[in-house]
Formats: sequence, C-alpha cells, structure tokens
Amino acid sequence: MKLLNYIKGKFEEPESAEWMDNLSPSTGKVIGSVPLSGESDVKLAIAAAREALPEWSGMDPSGRAEWLDRIADCLEEKFEEIAYLESLDTGKPISLARSVDATRSVSNFRFFSKMIRDMEDEIYEMEDATNIVKLRAVGVGALITPWNLPLYLLSWKVAPAIGMGNTVVCKPSELTPLTADLLMRVIDEVGLPSGVVNLVHGNGNSGSMLTGSPDVDLVSFTGGTSTGAKVAQSASPQFKKLSLELGGKNASIVFSDCDLEETVKGVTRAAFLNQGQVCLCGSRILVEDSIYDRFMEMFVESVESMVIGDPMDDDTELGALISKQHLQKVQGYVSLALEEGGQIVTGGEPCLPKELEGGNWMSPTVITGLGTETRCSTEEVFGPFVTVHRFNSEHEAIEIANNTRYGLAGSIWTMDLEKGRRVAENIHSGMVWVNTWLHRDLRVPFGGVKDSGVGREGGKWSLGFFSEPLNVCVRHD
Ligand code: NAD
Repeated sequence: MKLLNYIKGKFEEPESAEWMDNLSPSTGKVIGSVPLSGESDVKLAIAAAREALPEWSGMDPSGRAEWLDRIADCLEEKFEEIAYLESLDTGKPISLARSVDATRSVSNFRFFSKMIRDMEDEIYEMEDATNIVKLRAVGVGALITPWNLPLYLLSWKVAPAIGMGNTVVCKPSELTPLTADLLMRVIDEVGLPSGVVNLVHGNGNSGSMLTGSPDVDLVSFTGGTSTGAKVAQSASPQFKKLSLELGGKNASIVFSDCDLEETVKGVTRAAFLNQGQVCLCGSRILVEDSIYDRFMEMFVESVESMVIGDPMDDDTELGALISKQHLQKVQGYVSLALEEGGQIVTGGEPCLPKELEGGNWMSPTVITGLGTETRCSTEEVFGPFVTVHRFNSEHEAIEIANNTRYGLAGSIWTMDLEKGRRVAENIHSGMVWVNTWLHRDLRVPFGGVKDSGVGREGGKWSLGFFSEPLNVCVRHD
C-alpha cells in the first residue's frame, strides 16, 4: 500500500520525493510506504487550507453539520474496513478495533454534527444594551495525532474543527497512517469542498514544520509529554491557540469494600486494554492492605487468562506492541523494575505461532514490591506493564495516586459511593471514574493537569477550543 498526501482535494506524491516504510507490528513485515513530507508539502497543504477558509467559515453551521453527517454515513459504510486497517496498522485485536476505534470514529462525526446544529448565540441583556456572543472560526488548524487510537483521535479533532468553520491540515503518526488515508478517501468520496481538510504524512519534523508555521492559527496535539513541550515551544511565540493532550500514569485504587469480582475485571481491562497503550490506562494499582493477597490471587489469574495472539483473530484479547523500539523501551522498564527491587509476578515471552515471530510481542507483566517513588512506579511506560502497591488508609491512597508528574485520569473501586466521590475529588487529574473505567460521555471535558496536558476537549469544550468568541454589544436606549 503506497499512501499519498491529500492536498486541495487531490491525492499527491510528496514533493520531497521521500518515503518511509510502514511495518506491521504483529509480523514486522513491510505493509506499505508513507510519504515523508518536507517543507514544500507542508506549505502547499497550509496554503490550500487558507484558500478554502473564507467560504467554509462563512457557511451556516447547519450546512457544515450536514457535511459531518455525510462523512459519518460514509465511514459507517466502511466500518469493517476501518477495523481491519486499524488492526493491521496498530497490532491491536480486531474485536477492539471494531468496538472502540471504528465505532467511535463514526460517533465522533455524528456527535459534533448534533452539537453544531444545536449551537445558539448567547444573549446577555443590559438595561440599555444587548450583548450577543457568537462563536467564530479560529482559522487554519494543525491536527497532530499519535499511533495508539489513530482514527478515533483524528476524528475527535477533525469533526469539531471543521464543524466550527476552521480548515485543517492533519498530520497522523508515521507509524499508523492507514485509517487517516481512509478518512481522506471518505472526504474525497463525499465531495467535501477542496482544501477544507488536507493531510500530510510524515514524522516529527513534518509535524514541527506545521506547528511552527506562521500561517497556522491553532494547534491540537495528542501525543507524548516531551513532544508536547516541543510543540508548545514552537507554537507559543506566535500566540496560536493550543491544546495538548499528553501522557499519563494513572492509578486504579482498590478499596477493601469493593465488589472484588467486578473490580478484578475492571482493573485488568484498565491495565491492559490495547496492550496498555492507552493514555488513560491504570498502570499503577493501589490495593488496600486487608484484601491485597486475595486481590492478587484473582488479578494474576485474570491477567494470565488473557488470550494473546494474531490481532485478526476474533478471540484475541492482547495484540502486538506498536514497534520494535517501543517494545525495547517497555522491556527496559522490566529490567529497571528488577534493579529497583521489584519482583515479576507474571510476564515474560509469549508463546506464538511461527508467522508472528517477527512481531513486537510481550505478555502482560505485573510487578510488585516496588517503592511508590521509584521510576517504574512514577514514569509513563505505555505498555503491558503494571506495578501493584499496598495502602492502609484513604489518605495514603490519595497521596500515592498524586505522587507523579502526570495528572490525566484514575479509577476508584469501592461499594461506598460517598467515599468514592470524596477520594475522586482529591485526585489531581482531569478525569476520575468510580467503579468503572473508560466510561465515556462525549459531552464531558477530556484532558489532564500537570504534565498530562493543557486545555480540555470534548462537548462544549471542543466547540470552545476550535472557535473564538466575538462579543457584539448594541446600545438601544
Ligand atoms: P509522539 O509524541 O511521539 O507523537 C505524536 C505525534 O506527534 C506523531 O504524529 C508524531 O509524528 C508527531 N511529532 C513528533 N515530534 C513532533 C514535533 N517536534 N512537532 C510536532 N509533531 C511532532 O507520541 P506517540 O508515541 O505517537 O503516542 C504515545 C503518547 O501519546 C503517549 O505518551 C500517550 O500517553 C499519549 N497520548 C495521550 C492521549 C491523551 O488524550 N492525553 C491520547 C493518546 C495518546
């Protein structure tokens, strides 16, 4: 599969004439090639977006909402293709690509279409004047996404961005370009006005050309914390609107009064969904001392029963890691855990059929015995790797949960809902679930504090980020 950029309504070879291989995570084999876009490709895409801006931003919001519905319909027709390409490109189980990636990509467009249709100007009356507050497009947006949830996150940005009247240039992860290409094919098929959505493939350099361009007005970035810092450095001097959704090291807090069976299921899912490669994954499990032994017995049994193997197999629960380099990073943390005084309770090399031997495989790994200050217990690993710790009081659980530079999410497991809410309100993060995890309502704010990011997206927060409010005050006395 040789992919092309999508600029001004046309699929184009990169002017840079440079290409990168796209590798299958599950076999290590080359599955296609991707443009490595250079300065002139990025400039052409930005120019196309700028040219399309006046007409698109001038359109009635309900007209733009209709376009979002057309895209959603066309994506829905390609539901199985999305799931197949996402599983092929990321190494995730096809069942997960169906239930999470394909489903959410369609619903992101439908959800924002409805929000934009329902949007109204705000009116504030004074004795002698009327204020009208109107949301207007910001301009040209750069939308940069990571490899773990490729189309899920790209559609989460494209839908509200163009719905609010902006035009955009997308830069998906170089490791997972396939469904971004599918979205461009959909946009082409429905006949969206050319230049409203453009896409350049490429690596971090291509991304930084976008974020640093004086012709880009807004940057929505999802990715690692250290990359986020670079993005902020290049975008801030030009006062661009900036949203950063970054890493996490989220705690799952298990109290002795939890429903143990449900909790073990929930905590296992939170730890290892998508091979632990979700920014929200509960990679630190804090367990109240009085149930620690019973919890561990049930948790390890649950982890060891997970089916690891061919991502295309319907029964597979754990697929491959994204790249060799990432696998080495995660395995490096296993060695570090031993150096830091931890013990491996379960984990090691998975047993796989011969055709998958070239892939990036690692079985789910559980580490105990580490101090809560250690690197393994505080740094984002972003793989099938969790540490488990004991606690003795609500206060101690909160202290451990907050003891990291990240502040994205967390989950609390208890039958005492009052306690659940009380503890949740003391966790320094953007989102906390009680007796559930990754339970998403698209209307609520999504994002983190501390090193997990700046700003929120989701519902009215997305509409706010992808727009500029204008206040018109008319005196009438
Ligand atoms: P990454 O930071 O390496 O890359 C993300 C994107 O940024 C890619 O498209 C990449 O090409 C691009 N990029 C790299 N350097 C750049 C630069 N200097 N300027 C502009 N763009 C640049 O992240 P990744 O490895 O693809 O993804 C994993 C990370 O993403 C994890 O840390 C994870 O926690 C985070 N993540 C966060 C959320 C969230 O909503 N908070 C969601 C998913 C993933």
